[in-house]
Amino acid sequence: MAGVAEAEAVGAVAGAVVARPRVLLVAPRESYRIAPYIAAAGEQDIDLVIASEGEHALAGIGVPGVRVDLADPEASLAAIRASARERPYAAVIGTDDASIELAVQASESLGLVHNPVAAVRAARRKDLARRQLSQAGVPTPDYWPIELDRPLAPQLDVVTYPCVVKPVALSASRGVIRADNRRELEAAITRVQRIIAGLDRREEREAVLIESFIPGAEVAVEGLLRAGQLEVLAIFDKPDPLDGPYFEETYYVTPSRHPRVVQDAVATRVAEACVAYGLREGPVHAECRINERGVWVLEIAARTIGGLCGRLLRFGTGYGLEELVLQHALGRRVATRGADGAAGVLMIPIPQAGILRRVEGVLAASRVPHIEEVVIDVREGYELVPLPEGASYLGFIFARAPSAAEAEAALRAAHAELRIVVAPLWKAALR
Ligand code: ADP
Ligand code: CA
Repeated sequence: MAGVAEAEAVGAVAGAVVARPRVLLVAPRESYRIAPYIAAAGEQDIDLVIASEGEHALAGIGVPGVRVDLADPEASLAAIRASARERPYAAVIGTDDASIELAVQASESLGLVHNPVAAVRAARRKDLARRQLSQAGVPTPDYWPIELDRPLAPQLDVVTYPCVVKPVALSASRGVIRADNRRELEAAITRVQRIIAGLDRREEREAVLIESFIPGAEVAVEGLLRAGQLEVLAIFDKPDPLDGPYFEETYYVTPSRHPRVVQDAVATRVAEACVAYGLREGPVHAECRINERGVWVLEIAARTIGGLCGRLLRFGTGYGLEELVLQHALGRRVATRGADGAAGVLMIPIPQAGILRRVEGVLAASRVPHIEEVVIDVREGYELVPLPEGASYLGFIFARAPSAAEAEAALRAAHAELRIVVAPLWKAALR
């Protein structure tokens, strides 16, 4: 993603005003990643411009913006090109699944280094990703793409159990449901159908993916691709068993406590999968399962880790994750030594459906040793929707400790201090 403007800035003569590189961040409204990128750009003397939807996303954050509509790539590209004519961008970065394709198209139309469009499309669409992986010979579970506008029975007759049903293009485990038999599978599909019914794109609304259930431990991998070479920045363990029927994300702890050989196998498998997807540049966030048959890629996203979790990572010389991504996008090479120390996050589980009354014990939780911060993201009076329908996080607890075991223990102790008071919602009872 390095481009002309950066080269000009570097080539400026001593004494002259050196132009700061200008980077465009393409982000959906309310993306958690906007704030960390603004902070990182500030640290790196980069002029950040944010392309996002609506007035609200851009108002009041003190950063210039370009109005785009993620559902209208043509008009959005025209707006981005117009803004680049005023002053060129050295790089364009997509923050979230919903904005990455537009970021790549913008990079392409501005002549910047970028991932192939087909690769980021595979990273967004789980059915296409499975096809890419199996065609490339990367081990995948058995999978069955299901077309909901065709008769279901013959499509389901071939499925084996246990299996997992999922939407082809949602995230945060929304709509991912395990089924152990045909009856559960049909019920799960009906439930997923309701979740995806409102999606804009027909191919995401009229299809689900079924995969055989892969037992085992789960890890998440943060990596950075440079010209097709993967550098693993961090491996997070997910220490709670994730056996379904729903798959709520809870604990992430780094560094991994898996043996070095297992971590190496994870890195190798993720690198193979990046090649299979066709991903070559920028951040990747991968999820894998590990069992006695090897390492299995669940999915790879062409972005950084979700939520606020990226703030846990500090590398080598003190860089944060978003700083590394910006530097990479500008073609600057920085040495990373891997993440410093141990850290963990708990994405606070939603205990039940209803209206959030209050969260008690936040102060006590934040005073637990090694706890860095407790963030409650949902305001009182808002509706809490658990998985598989829900999409939002109740909040996050962050820990930093000498060891991964201590970070995890601190998160569990802090969580035990919280009392989440929820008033039942009649609508939920009637469903
Ligand atoms: P999302 O993009 O919504 O995160 P994923 O495909 O990553 O969707 O699935 C979410 C979670 O569901 C995974 O992190 C994993 O715990 C579980 N899961 C998904 N697919 C499988 C599978 N084939 N076998 C076992 N668990 C799975
Ligand atoms: Ca996932």
